[in-house]
Amino acid sequence: MATRVALLTVCAALAPVAAIVAPSAGAAGRCGNPSARPWCNTALSPDARAELLLHALTPQERIGLLGGDELTGVGGGEHRHTGTQDGVPRVGVPTIYYSDGPVGPRQGKVTAMPAPMGDAATWNPRINRAYGRLVAAEARAKGNDVVYAPTVNLMRTPLNGRTFEGFGEDPFLVSRTAVAWIRGAQSTGVLANVKHFALNNQEGYSSAADESRPDQPIGPLPDPGKGSRMSVNVHVGERAMRETELLPFEAAVKQGNVASIMCSYNKLRGSYACQNDPLLRIPRQWGFRGFVLADYGAAHDTSASLRSGLDFEPWPGFVYGSAAVNAALLSGQATQADVDRHVRSMLRTFFAFGVLDRPAFEDDTSSIPQEPHRKVARRVEEQAITLLRNRRRLLPLKPRKLKSIAVIGAGGDTFITGGGSGHVTPFRFVSPRQAIAARVRRGTKVLVDDGSDPAAAAAVARSAQVAVVFTPDYQTEGSDRHCISLECPPAFGDQDELIRRVAAANRRTVVVLETGGPVLTPWRGKVRALLEAWYPGQEGGTAIARILFGDAEPGGRLPATFPRREADLPTAGDPERYPGVGDEEYYKEGVFLGYRWFDRHRLKPAYPFGYGLSYTRWKLDRPKVSRRSVRVRVRNAGRRRGSTVVQLYLGLPSSRAAPQPPRQLRGYRKVSLRRGRATRIRFKLRNRDLAYWSTRAGSWRIRRGRYRVYLGFSSRALRRVGTIRQRKPASAR
Ligand code: BGC
Repeated sequence: MATRVALLTVCAALAPVAAIVAPSAGAAGRCGNPSARPWCNTALSPDARAELLLHALTPQERIGLLGGDELTGVGGGEHRHTGTQDGVPRVGVPTIYYSDGPVGPRQGKVTAMPAPMGDAATWNPRINRAYGRLVAAEARAKGNDVVYAPTVNLMRTPLNGRTFEGFGEDPFLVSRTAVAWIRGAQSTGVLANVKHFALNNQEGYSSAADESRPDQPIGPLPDPGKGSRMSVNVHVGERAMRETELLPFEAAVKQGNVASIMCSYNKLRGSYACQNDPLLRIPRQWGFRGFVLADYGAAHDTSASLRSGLDFEPWPGFVYGSAAVNAALLSGQATQADVDRHVRSMLRTFFAFGVLDRPAFEDDTSSIPQEPHRKVARRVEEQAITLLRNRRRLLPLKPRKLKSIAVIGAGGDTFITGGGSGHVTPFRFVSPRQAIAARVRRGTKVLVDDGSDPAAAAAVARSAQVAVVFTPDYQTEGSDRHCISLECPPAFGDQDELIRRVAAANRRTVVVLETGGPVLTPWRGKVRALLEAWYPGQEGGTAIARILFGDAEPGGRLPATFPRREADLPTAGDPERYPGVGDEEYYKEGVFLGYRWFDRHRLKPAYPFGYGLSYTRWKLDRPKVSRRSVRVRVRNAGRRRGSTVVQLYLGLPSSRAAPQPPRQLRGYRKVSLRRGRATRIRFKLRNRDLAYWSTRAGSWRIRRGRYRVYLGFSSRALRRVGTIRQRKPASAR
């Protein structure tokens, strides 16, 4: 099957990575000789070893482990770790090195991957796993033990400046993507750090946002008082919190065995996340055995954090510095037992992940196998690119018939990525213009225009057989966008006007969006084809050209709804919802975020969640529904090989106390088949898939009633295939 072929190619491409990263058996550990240092005995459990080591540390040495030791690494650069935690050589505790981030290490040059939003758009756990593995392998090759990724905060509003860093709007898709990412990452021996816990769904509305520019990758900080992530106080119902934002964190813990969690800047119900005891208890209730570290500057009150769940503050000496911790102990506001609890969490995690039982990872960028990594980056992007429109099958282009092609717009020849800690510096970059020029036949003219003057661009478009317009946006940590049109921020000019002018000049116009998330597409009826390439990464040009010319199938499906109007967003029209009033913000939409909102209010999106076209045609038949599983046959009914994503949604029985979204994603499967071929797929249904969070019971419950089952190819292209009857209420875990 083609999926298998694709998988094998990904694995083959990764083989050298695996060779580098496989823990070397019998390697000399740094811990030392177990006869002198009993905690170095690998036959003991991580808990027992942590306990022994804890007691070998002096109280001041323990306190020393609570705070990081690197102030300026956050600026990035070769050989600069984002964070360090000095060890205690006397007892064999090594220095631990930390690096951003979700798109790749922020430490000199790396394989710049497509944005995580694109990773989510692949709807392919194997790709997600390969992505995580690659990022962690490069973090490891640069001498890091921990990578600050993945970002799993849900896309509550596409205005969020960090939309590109996350995995979109659906808790189920985000969870699956994150679990695969974490498993891939942690298979290298590097510890993943899932972030930002929790409700960190915006940066804040800044008057300076419109000045943010890709050549200054750290965005402007928001004005205080307008929903800044540093001070906003989130009010959210318990059920909404459990069913939406917390779900990916829960999956990261329970299914991903994630080593660490980063607590966020914002407040929840009046208390900063990094000292919010009820919040920080939740992962422990899920069975989390790792450690919690603070986002940079997110810790505020030494005693409150010590008493609750913050184990480590990587940005040094502010709140968990020795002086502050000693003062808290002296005042009696916190105890040595609190300190020990945090140190124990860290040591146990280091033992559980073998950190002390292996040699240090060398900081040696030259050990990164760039060629195979390049292939992974390209393959991820091919599976991320989402075909949203293809009138009269303009795509794929036929090179033999193509006499001339115009490459227009800011994204045609520049590296497009987001700003902040998700910013990466690529080893190399292949632009769409270069890749298209390399792909067309000799004699085909490639005309180029940067799109800065729409009239001039239209003239170029008019003289070409096909015009392709590349329109990026720019998102950055540190500020939200002021609107979700292509004019926000205005760094790339009036791109809506550019598209309109080019489309008027050339009937065969293709638009390639290179955006970090949903944007408005008011001109979509005027263009023949539309692709979303996300921030495409260093190999994006090649991937885009391969899709345009049909060498690869556009594998992406939308991980977020593309609205027709900004006013349709669940956060629109009410400053208490967003960006908050006087720093108080209310998640009044409850569980109705993303497509759940559009479905409930019968709003027609421009392009729905889960949507994406294929170059071939797909059919579903012979569905079979039972309480335990849903089965269906999927067939490639078109004329070429291709891939699709079969999606399973459930409609849970609603009640006044717990109103349910009309449909919720509960399963998906990416299928790749040759023309004419069919395959059967099966979705398992676990109790939890039928459950909702009962605030009254404080647990997951299954209601008595009828559960509607839908199958299809997007949240708006579904067929009801059956009903599950639940005769008695039940509980779920
Ligand atoms: C971001 C984190 C990041 C950290 C270190 C913070 O501003 O919110 O995601 O890991 O900086 O760069």
